[in-house]
Amino acid sequence: MPERYRVAPDSKVDLADIDPRDDAIFDGNKAAGKAEAARLNERLEALQEVLYAEGKHKVLIVLQAMDAGGKDGTIRHVFDGVNPAGVRVASFKAPTSDELAHDYLWRVHPHTPGSGMMTIFNRSHYEDVLVVRVKNFVPESRWRPRYRHIREFERLLADEGTTILKFFLHISKPEQAERFQARLDRPEKRWKFRKGDLEDRALWDEFQGAYTEMLEETSTDYAPWYVVPADRKWYRNIVISRIIVETLEGLNMKYPDPEGELEGIVIE
Ligand code: AMP
Ligand code: MG
Repeated sequence: MPERYRVAPDSKVDLADIDPRDDAIFDGNKAAGKAEAARLNERLEALQEVLYAEGKHKVLIVLQAMDAGGKDGTIRHVFDGVNPAGVRVASFKAPTSDELAHDYLWRVHPHTPGSGMMTIFNRSHYEDVLVVRVKNFVPESRWRPRYRHIREFERLLADEGTTILKFFLHISKPEQAERFQARLDRPEKRWKFRKGDLEDRALWDEFQGAYTEMLEETSTDYAPWYVVPADRKWYRNIVISRIIVETLEGLNMKYPDPEGELEGIVIE
């Protein structure tokens, strides 16, 4: 299943060819999907516990999407019940003046996971080839070399023991309209809506173009991108959970051996 949505290194991507409403694995059977989601969630909890106990691997999960693409919902659902001691979320907003005074990776590197940890990037260094490109915050001569920097930065992390998974939550433009409307109509959701979201929506095609080139330029065998159909939230969650679970299973992690011989010790 991971293969279905993985962007092969050096391949061409056509986002218009990837259906945001795809639910191929369950073929519309949402009930079966929910059962699978619950099973995957338990599995992830168990795997994260071993990751933490073993303290050997580092796991970095990158989430990118258009506004209302479901990044927050993914974090809430996929990681529901996972021990917060071993998981961090780093959210990257518009840079501060201090951050802008440095190179764009300066603010990112300190948030990468340490041994035994799992870190979720809610937006990431990829904004520096997405919004920064689309809105012309820097000229092409500045953002284009960033594909290479990013490949090399992620190679550094991978060489030093980080497992990297990157998810582009692929929603359709009508779905974004519905979600924006829901945010406006429900008082408790309104805080999520910024007027600037509409400016970005007006640049939809430009963003899709920037995402396409990002996927083509930066999906590598050591840090692959997955394009996740994300109009159906339940399906999106299953796809992401499965890919994370299968990847963690592939690490063959185990609880560390106890110190010395503990057999027969009775605590009084
Ligand atoms: P949200 O994720 O909806 O809370 O919004 C965060 C905002 O920060 C988005 O509009 C992003 O485009 C913006 N943002 C994140 N990183 C950067 C960056 N490096 N440069 C400019 N804007 C950014
Ligand atoms: Mg937003």
